[in-house]
Amino acid sequence: MVLSEAVLADPVALTRALCDIPSVSWNEAEICDAVEAALKPLGHLTTERVGNTLIARTELGRDKRVMLAGHLDTVPVNDNFPTRTEGDVMWGLGTSDMKSGTALALWIAATVTDPKFDLSFAFYDCEEIEAEHNGLNKLAKTRPELLAADFAILLEPTYGLVEAGCQGTMRARVTLRGKRAHSARSWKGENAIHRAAPVLERLNAYEAREVEVNGCAYHEGLNAVFIDGGVAGNVIPDECRVEVNYRFAPDRDEAAAEAHVREVFDGFEVEITDSAPSCRPGLDRPEAAEFVAAAGGEFRAKLGWTDVARFATLGIPAVNFGPGDPNLAHKQDERVEIPRILSCADALRAYVEAP
Ligand SMILES: [Zn+2]
Repeated sequence: MVLSEAVLADPVALTRALCDIPSVSWNEAEICDAVEAALKPLGHLTTERVGNTLIARTELGRDKRVMLAGHLDTVPVNDNFPTRTEGDVMWGLGTSDMKSGTALALWIAATVTDPKFDLSFAFYDCEEIEAEHNGLNKLAKTRPELLAADFAILLEPTYGLVEAGCQGTMRARVTLRGKRAHSARSWKGENAIHRAAPVLERLNAYEAREVEVNGCAYHEGLNAVFIDGGVAGNVIPDECRVEVNYRFAPDRDEAAAEAHVREVFDGFEVEITDSAPSCRPGLDRPEAAEFVAAAGGEFRAKLGWTDVARFATLGIPAVNFGPGDPNLAHKQDERVEIPRILSCADALRAYVEAP
């Protein structure tokens, strides 16, 4: 599939064209080829391809650099390929998550030759599967210089609202130990499941913080998500495990989050089993504040975890902003409203174009 100049100049046609190139995770070669073929000949960009991730950059010597990023893959087809358009709505796989957003990054890359900031673009693969395969995650570890920027916009679906930063997430296992015995002579044992009671009491009494960072209100949460223990119906159990998930605001990094979890469960055996960092909204930076203004002035905190945190690990504040409705992501009836593609396009263009 060749993305013609006419298609590259029209964010709606470009959304449709990208959606109509099949690109379920692990099968991004064709779509990455198309993006590379569209951008490589352009004189205002340098491109570098790493696997099925394409990086394009302007080198204009501006004092600030802004990154626009979008993944190229989709979840598996669910009787929703290719697209169809009815009135103002485009239906089909990837329309919301996130080819309408990726199309806007590609449209800016192809058509804005004299931007106010230097621009970088990342079109990456394998976002919808395990993090170890994620193209952006791999680049952040192996080629961080390709992602360098002062501010990043990830064009994931937010229904046209700026969703700033993201909360971090950490899982911890609290292990309670006891002594096995026959339940007929239970006084000879120590019941590990009963020992979970004070852990659950602490969780039940826990008051989650509500934190404001750069005007964004984040609401934390600390919750048991699994509990297991027990040996047999006639045995006093010698072990019980409570798994806890902590969603933490971006004023805490992973070390501070871990310290907090350990403090809450002081006196218990605690093991951190998984963790992903938070991302500061960074709205105190002028280039971020200008973007919020261009997008209509409204913003809110992102409570879920997204790839913006990969920028955070590189010290780059980032926001989510895209035309798709996040509630439609991964659904059979995925769709995007065409007027919302156009209003997001206007906001991005106003932001990156020199006055
Ligand atoms: Zn997505």
